[in-house]
Amino acid sequence: MAVRKILLLGNPFLYTVCKKVEKDESDMVMSVVRDLHDTLMDFKKIHKAGRAIAAPQIGVDKRLLYMHVGEPLVLINPVLEFKDTATMVLWDDCMSFPDLLVKVKRYCHCKVTFFDPEWKKQHVEYSGDMSELIQHEYDHLNGILAVSRAVDGKSFCLRSETHFWSNQ
Ligand SMILES: [Zn+2]
Repeated sequence: MAVRKILLLGNPFLYTVCKKVEKDESDMVMSVVRDLHDTLMDFKKIHKAGRAIAAPQIGVDKRLLYMHVGEPLVLINPVLEFKDTATMVLWDDCMSFPDLLVKVKRYCHCKVTFFDPEWKKQHVEYSGDMSELIQHEYDHLNGILAVSRAVDGKSFCLRSETHFWSNQ
């Protein structure tokens, strides 16, 4: 069990394209998943937010995601598909820049195919909040941060300044 340091915006490692997890790496997967869990729970306690974390955010360049929305879910080598072209614009945040919000465009619906820790292939379809969450996490595996997906040059807002939104 270990709470790991979350890499923050500016750390070049966050721009790494992560490598596929191999079938014989289950020991590594279990130990990284434990650390992802502990790190996410610690973040939740401090920030009262945080639904998922990607391995590169704790310095591991593997295609591995850990989600905890009601129940834990481990996604190994996830692949995303989009079912249609419907998109939504939203203010996104990230554990790697907890004080900053970024306006991004995401697909409303997606399907993710991944391996679970027993190496069984799983397919899950997501809509709305969960769809944008999985797209955010999946981007981390390709070294893409929400700041790189900002819809325009005015798409950045510090959390402390969100009170201006009510005046817009
Ligand atoms: Zn993030």
